[in-house]
Order: sequence, then C-alpha cells, then structure tokens
Amino acid sequence: MSQEITRVHTGQTEHLELRFAERASLMRPSEIRALFAVASRPEIVSLAGGMPNLSALPMEMFSDVVQKLVRENGQEALQYGSGQGHPKLREQICDIMALEGIRAHPDDVIVTTGSQQALDLISRIFIDPHDVVLVEAPSYVGALGTFQQYEADVVHVEMDHDGMIPVRLREAISATKALGKNIKFLYLIPNYQNPGGVTLPAERRTEILDICREEKIFVVEDNPYGLLGFNGPSPDAMRAEDSENVIYLGSFSKTIAPGFRVGWALVPQALKEKLVIAAESSILCPSNFAQLAISGYLADQPWREQIAEFCKLYKVRRDAMLESLEKYFPEGATWTHPEGGFYFWVTLPEGIDTKAMMPKAIAAKVAYVPGTAFYADGFGSRSMRLSYCYPTPERIRDGVKALGAVIKSEIESLDKKNKALK
Ligand code: PMP
Repeated sequence: MSQEITRVHTGQTEHLELRFAERASLMRPSEIRALFAVASRPEIVSLAGGMPNLSALPMEMFSDVVQKLVRENGQEALQYGSGQGHPKLREQICDIMALEGIRAHPDDVIVTTGSQQALDLISRIFIDPHDVVLVEAPSYVGALGTFQQYEADVVHVEMDHDGMIPVRLREAISATKALGKNIKFLYLIPNYQNPGGVTLPAERRTEILDICREEKIFVVEDNPYGLLGFNGPSPDAMRAEDSENVIYLGSFSKTIAPGFRVGWALVPQALKEKLVIAAESSILCPSNFAQLAISGYLADQPWREQIAEFCKLYKVRRDAMLESLEKYFPEGATWTHPEGGFYFWVTLPEGIDTKAMMPKAIAAKVAYVPGTAFYADGFGSRSMRLSYCYPTPERIRDGVKALGAVIKSEIESLDKKNKALK
C-alpha cells in the first residue's frame, strides 16, 4: 500500500530562515533557473538553455565503457579517491590541453566536479567582501552568481565582436584603482563566449595578459567550449602563453557529457595546495567512478572523432539560426557571429526591454534568456541570448520566426507610442 505523505506547515520554516547566516541572503535563484521551468514545456521552442546535445553520443559504447569499468576495476571505481583527482585522468587532461598549446604537468591539475566547482573554490580562496572581479560585458551567469555570493563587486569590461577590448580593460582597472578598490582577478571566456558567442583573437590575448601581469591581476581563463570550433582550432589558450599568472578551467561537459560532472583547474603552484584543501572540505574527492569512466573512454575510444561529430551537429544548428535571423528578424536588430560553441548574442533597437517582452514570446511558443541575466549591474535590457545547441534545425527556424514576429510587433507598438507623444 502506498503511503500518503502530507506536509504540515508548522511555522518551522520561518524560524529556520531567521537562523540563516547573512551570506544566505545572497543565494538567489538565477533568472535562467526560473525560466527553465517554462522553457522546458514541450510546446515551447527553447532557445534559452545551454544543454549540450547528447543525441550524437553513442550510448551503447558508453554502456560498454561503464560495464567494463565496474567489471574490471570496480573496487577502485566505487571507492573514495584522491582529493586532487585521479592521476591517470590528470595525465590525459594534460594531453587534451596540449591541443590548445598548453604544456602542463599532471601535478598542477586539480579535477573538480564540473568547472562550476572550480569557480566556487577559486572565489572562496580569493574574494573578500567588496573585492573587485573584472568580467566581460556580458558574462556567464553561473560565474556572476558565484562571485556575488562571495560578495564581490563585479565590474564589467566592454566587448565588441572580437571579445574584450584591451583599452577598456585598462580604463576599468584605472577607474577601480582610483576608487581605492582591490581587484582580485579577471575572469574571461576567450573561446565562443557564453553568452556573447565571440572569440578573442590571439593579439588581444597577448595584450590582455600583458596588462594583467603589469597590474598584478590574476587571469581566470574559463574554456569549456574551446574544442567546439566550426572552422578549425581556436587560437592557443591564454595559459599557453603565461603559466604563472593564469588559472585555466576546463570541462568535459561539452566535449563528452555534463552528467559525469568532471571538470578541472590547471593552477600556478602557489595556488595548488589551497585549492586541494578547499576541494576536500567541499566534496572530499571528485567521483572516482565518473573520472575513471571518462579516463577509460579517452583511452579506448575515438574521442577526437566524437568531438568532430559534435562540431558538425552544432554547426548545422548555428547555420539554421543564422539564416533564420537574417530572414525573420527586423531591421535594427544585430547579432554576433559565433564560429563555435552554443550561442548568439542579439541586440534589439533602443526602447525594447527583452525581459518585459518574455511573456509575449512564451505566448508565441518560444523562449530565450533576457540580456540582464548576464550583467551584475542591470545592463543588457535590450539584448538576449539565443542558444542553438539543443533544438533540431527545424525547431530553431520555427522559434526564430516566431520570435521575429514578436519583436516586430513590439517595435510597432513602440513606434505608435512615440508618435502619440510627439
Ligand atoms: N563556464 C561556462 C562559460 C559555462 O558555460 C558553463 C556551463 N554552462 C560552466 C562554466 C560550468 O560547466 P560545468 O560545471 O558543467 O563544467
């Protein structure tokens, strides 16, 4: 007989909330989380989420990898492991980073539970309340949320279609220093940026590294999309050029599968011990099972070909979105041209508020993420992130068409309002 569980409200919840630490007030759901519930309804074309498209993954093969692991090495796979991560996987990670010009020793690699955990640990180690973290404008919503939970003051640095603008970085540093504030690090995503879709060219990488070295500011290079380029490899990683001043974050979430929750940090030696201690207090050790499954896959399977498959799948979707934007979006709308990764960043004419427009888009059965989610300072109200990674090309076309119609009608009603005011 099934047991029915009723939840009785005892007033206990309020009591509990009164006991929260002050920092708990900074733990707020992201705009994206709230959106996902709506966007995941089957009738909605979701151009909102950034979920990798696992339809290209050969599940049979993964099933073999996992079965072999448990059969042949179950005692180790199901046991606790090293806080720094499995030595074999750390070696394989170094081989992968070599594809982007990085020469690294496995001793300097720390395996984390996704690169999101590395962001959390680094924030915990570096950020005191009101320290400044410099980020791109716009930047990854998950990083902004973490920095804010550690009470950082986030300062955005302007980007253009080639990513962060070095002179703007210099200006942001001077302005921040003039206020007497302490800059802890620069966080950026140089390849196929989330949410901007842009890639930082090699010369800008060097320039930004020079500025940061000169100013004694650490660089946190977050690179989950680097191997997902559509026109050949992206420029060498920033870490390849500077092993002292760059903390590099990598992840298997987009090149294999996010369900394993395996990422890593490659850190300068002075940081390594602190990061391992912070990781141990957080999770004791990353999952041996997930690490060894990935390690077995990398050792026995054609993972480079699999990444090429992913790139093919995403390129078809990028093309579908680009064609549809050109066809269905009104004059005055502009967008970036991603050469890899998952995202377009679209900016609409002055006066449109993409957050306020969202209910109309949902009514037209399409979802996106409003631009303000990617700023810590309220900017981005006439921008939006559109992701093409997950839906089929047909659904992408339908979604962009529907969204184009919503935007056109929004522009028309704005025009009417403006005329009436004259
Ligand atoms: N950094 C960026 C730029 C991301 O887009 C994401 C995930 N969307 C992450 C970090 C976190 O990825 P994971 O924890 O799955 O490695």
